Amino acid sequence: MNGNKRFMGHKIRRDGQNKADVQRLSSGQTPHAIVLSCSDSRVPPEIVFDQKLGEIFVVRTAGESLGDNAIASIEYALEHLGPQLLIVMGHTSCGAVKAALGTLDGSDAGSPALNALVGGLHPHLKSFKGKKNSANFSVEGWSVADGVAAELLTRSAIIKKHAQSGNLKIVTALYNLSDGAVDFKPNDTKPSTTPQATKDHTSSQSH
Ligand SMILES: [Zn+2]
Repeated sequence: MNGNKRFMGHKIRRDGQNKADVQRLSSGQTPHAIVLSCSDSRVPPEIVFDQKLGEIFVVRTAGESLGDNAIASIEYALEHLGPQLLIVMGHTSCGAVKAALGTLDGSDAGSPALNALVGGLHPHLKSFKGKKNSANFSVEGWSVADGVAAELLTRSAIIKKHAQSGNLKIVTALYNLSDGAVDFKPNDTKPSTTPQATKDHTSSQSH
């Protein structure tokens, strides 16, 4: 959140990406977060969160669509690198989301691989079939990010294990192409405290 504020205010950090940092990290990495996001060229997590070398472990696919490689990449990071946060980030006006919405009727996306990609998003978008799109496809984008986050827990015993242990917090987010802001919300697929109340496990929902 702080990094996105720096990005939006054009006050990006200058540390963390020098020759000394390359050397410091040459023997290992301990990224504090994993980011699963869209491949869209306008949404690079390292830039929109102002993160530098060794700080975030990034997995990107169009529309955050999941496959074995993406899931395994996240599993590897969790088992070996120690991150305690997993962000699933969609964005407004996502082309993959639009393509998935456009193929809900079963039409061809263009290739077997493309059909598999949009097919992976269809379960998260089926409730929008035949409906008018939201502004900038933001509601649909949230639905995909939330759906993919839930899907990670059902498709990966390793991710589920880390989430249930309390050592991993999973949140969803949506990047706004028009102003660069990232909106966050806690994912309700695991027990978690709100960002305002992280001290104990007794926070109420009233905040
Ligand atoms: Zn996208």
